[in-house]
Amino acid sequence: MSRTIHLVAAARPNFMKVAPLWHALAAAPGFRPVLIHTGQHYDANMSDAIFADLRLPAPDHHLGVGSGSHAEQTGRVMIAYEALAAAAPPDALIVVGDVNSTLACALVGAKQGFPVIHLEAGLRSGDRAMPEEINRLATDAISDILWTPSPDADDNLAREGVDPARITNVGNIMLDSFELTRGQIAAAGEAAALGLPARYGVVTLHRPSNVDVPATLAALVAALGTVQARLPLVFPVHPRTAQRLAAAGHDAELAAAGVRLVGPLPYIRFMSLVAGAAAVITDSGGVQEETSYLGIPCLTLRENTERPVTITHGTNQLVDAASLAPRLEAALAVALEARPRPPLWDGATAGRCLADLARRLG
Ligand code: UDP
Repeated sequence: MSRTIHLVAAARPNFMKVAPLWHALAAAPGFRPVLIHTGQHYDANMSDAIFADLRLPAPDHHLGVGSGSHAEQTGRVMIAYEALAAAAPPDALIVVGDVNSTLACALVGAKQGFPVIHLEAGLRSGDRAMPEEINRLATDAISDILWTPSPDADDNLAREGVDPARITNVGNIMLDSFELTRGQIAAAGEAAALGLPARYGVVTLHRPSNVDVPATLAALVAALGTVQARLPLVFPVHPRTAQRLAAAGHDAELAAAGVRLVGPLPYIRFMSLVAGAAAVITDSGGVQEETSYLGIPCLTLRENTERPVTITHGTNQLVDAASLAPRLEAALAVALEARPRPPLWDGATAGRCLADLARRLG
């Protein structure tokens, strides 16, 4: 008898975490993965093209919740997923990351009484002004099984008094997606296709703390203009950031400074750009990890990170608009010392998840 495992994918950062698991479950005897797309991100480049890159099939179920306030999104996902799960309860539910759908589906699963597993559990920024931090805390509190990416996550959960029996350190699943597509990423040649010079930097920004506060956004735009004079930049712009930039006329300002603005890119083209970059400027969670894995200097425009191993073991440093240009200058001036990767950041996390699932479900 095969066990039905619900896998929830909602938004761009989820797809790289779900894909390796879906492939592992689909190939394993005794498991049947059911892919549920809640529809938090729905346009072609934020979703369909990334599904195609990661060789994910069309979702088994599409909840089509779309955008909205946090409460609207969380509520709509709960209502839709509750009906689906009540009609055909799974043997287990796996939720990933820290988006609203992660928490919404975990709440439904916990109340309907089937096992809920959180992949990427235990990360903490310590900053409750970040909506994702609330989702992380609440999802971990109600999940039965916590799959952690790094030892700091285990430490956070231990500090919160979580029973160690609920926790398995499986490693970083994002990097499984990188390894799954490494050959295509190496062959993609995105920088050349965009006509970028040999030495360039990549920018991504989308956190509300950076793009929703006009004064902060203006300072960041000015800082990127300063950096551009030293290192030509390409900026695949997230849809919410595109709106904010356009509203304030910053898109024209960046373009006039020479920053190359492009839309959000599918995964393989994006990772091709990152892999060839001299440095990356970001506020993304996933990008901090990918640059650390690839040994590329990463300057993170945030006051804190829920991924501290990217600083202690990786290439990451936290900066603000004022420190960005000098810190980038310093980072480019020195050869990075090679550091060992965090334990279990090896492209083999999905296999460990599968083994743990088999052990726990019996
Ligand atoms: N990414 C992508 N195209 C882009 C920008 C990002 O495919 O244009 C990928 C990249 O692998 C990154 C992931 O999307 O790690 C998630 O990034 P995002 O910044 O959207 O989310 P976060 O990790 O901050 O939650």
